[in-house]
Amino acid sequence: DAGRRAPGAVTVCGSPMDADALQRVSLDIDLRRAVEADRLTVHYQPVVALDGGRIVGHEALARWPDQERGWVSPDAFIAAAERNGLISDIGLRVLRRALRDKRRYGSYRNTWLSVNVSVVQLEDEAFAGQVLRALDEEGIPADELRIEVTESALLASARSRAQLIELRRAGIRILVDDFGTGFSSLASVRRLPIDGIKISRELLHDEEPGLPDPTVVRAVRLLAAGAGVTDIIAEGVESALEVRTLAALGMPYAQGFHLGRPAPASRALRWPGTPLVSPN
Ligand code: C2E
Ligand code: MG
Ligand code: MG
Ligand code: MG
Repeated sequence: DAGRRAPGAVTVCGSPMDADALQRVSLDIDLRRAVEADRLTVHYQPVVALDGGRIVGHEALARWPDQERGWVSPDAFIAAAERNGLISDIGLRVLRRALRDKRRYGSYRNTWLSVNVSVVQLEDEAFAGQVLRALDEEGIPADELRIEVTESALLASARSRAQLIELRRAGIRILVDDFGTGFSSLASVRRLPIDGIKISRELLHDEEPGLPDPTVVRAVRLLAAGAGVTDIIAEGVESALEVRTLAALGMPYAQGFHLGRPAPASRALRWPGTPLVSPN
């Protein structure tokens, strides 16, 4: 009954594809081409110590500039890559690029580099070895690398936890990303192999626009102290007032548009550690 369909309609296994499915396939194809041509790039956002305003680290964020689509949001293409199997390739390229950029911009030798890792990558038993080899080849010490994983990744499986433990043993620190957006179990943080917590903007602010909730900050700081976690980072800080409030509550680190937007290496990593927040 193919004859009844509109001319030019795409059929797969005899059934017509809907518009969403078509769009997914076309995104998958374009993404694969971009990865193979090494067109994906990396931007960096500073992490700032609220006591004094020093830049203490940078988060590497994948960027896909596409001729027709413009800048595709990582939320969209990372999810696609997790579905279509490209994530391991993308993740390794982002890591290598970020390590190379860090080495090239030597003024940031004493800062950490944070790289996002998907649960799909952690499920691959080769992952930890690949990370350690990349560090070795780029000549970056393990204690200058942070790996950001979501809570669900941490709870996922024994195999993924084994990868994290191996990385941690080598001196790489593990941060829980977007803490408070998932099925946050405060108790689980204590049992997990982690060194730091990134508190999501959603958890910090109960209403929009609002100021960081002191109760949340205090609770997370208590939890962290109990678990021996030292790196606590407030995410998504968008105003000077938020910065002051967080600093007054004893939040050690923060990240957000107010402190610095993600930017290419040539801009984000270039200048020496100028304070972004003036001390008082
Ligand atoms: P994330 O790891 O939580 O990264 C923080 C996101 O928040 C970034 O979005 C950043 O641009 C944005 N952001 C920073 N400051 C502010 C702020 O003050 N306000 C608001 N509203 N947003 C802020 P981006 O770059 O679009 O990345 C989105 C997500 O995509 C990341 O969330 C991360 O989960 C994922 N992602 C990005 N790069 C990679 C990667 O290389 N590998 C993997 N697996 N995931 C990645
Ligand atoms: Mg992150
Ligand atoms: Mg985050
Ligand atoms: Mg996120």
